[in-house]
Amino acid sequence: MNSTVSLTLSPRQIDELASLYQAYAQAPSNPYITALYKLSDCTISVYTSHKVVFQGESASHYAQSYQNQFKAHAGSDEVGTGDYFGPVVVVAAYVDDACYQKIKHLGITDSKALTDEMIQKIATEIRPLVPHSLLIVDNRKYNEIHQVHNMNAIKALLHNQAYLHLKKRIKVMPDLCVVDQFTPKTSYLNYLRNEKNIFRELHFETKAESKYMAVAVASILARDAFLQSFETLNQSYDFIFPKGGGSQVDAAAIQFVKRYGIERLEEVAKLHFKNTERVV
Ligand code: MN
Repeated sequence: MNSTVSLTLSPRQIDELASLYQAYAQAPSNPYITALYKLSDCTISVYTSHKVVFQGESASHYAQSYQNQFKAHAGSDEVGTGDYFGPVVVVAAYVDDACYQKIKHLGITDSKALTDEMIQKIATEIRPLVPHSLLIVDNRKYNEIHQVHNMNAIKALLHNQAYLHLKKRIKVMPDLCVVDQFTPKTSYLNYLRNEKNIFRELHFETKAESKYMAVAVASILARDAFLQSFETLNQSYDFIFPKGGGSQVDAAAIQFVKRYGIERLEEVAKLHFKNTERVV
């Protein structure tokens, strides 16, 4: 029976495949395939994204030795960039096999698929177990930085900081560090061109929260910190700040300005959003 097994492997594992199956190597048939091995009972395609597809009657046999081991990796994600009110939070997290064994039963998945309550519950459990670095930029600071840097540049600076902090914490970074892609890697590095320290060994992928445990963890921890900050904002201003950027947000911003004055909007909102024009 023909079957297909698709895995994401580390550069080290991909090198291992190359040394094992060198004799079966063929010229790749498309630009996204970096190596192709045609065995009699299985074809192995290695993609530029580190995805490896085993196809053929013995696909699961060849894939097996890579399937059972959890591959240590780091991942990063940001939260709050689509919300008019509240901070921007970026987290980079590291998950190795030992850590994975402790957290795999907790229902970790793409934070967009989880309710706020579930996120807070999972975050409380994983926070002490997963080495991570968390950065929060409050609104005042955000508005100040935004005078000089656009949103994507701010994200790039924060992801870079988060990885540098994480590196200090865990000493040796894994082969695979995945950024949930908000801009292509070339523009990312371009945003960082004036930085002294740049962590470059990154893999960029869209929808990474649903594909990489460390990115899912980063996004849950970031979302949780964002929710906590929101709660603090609500309490400090005795006000209910809605999330997102829709008409409810406009209405709340108008109320806020009535109560606290336009000059204090910078303490709670990202002023460059279109919402500000609709309030003033
Ligand atoms: Mn993201």
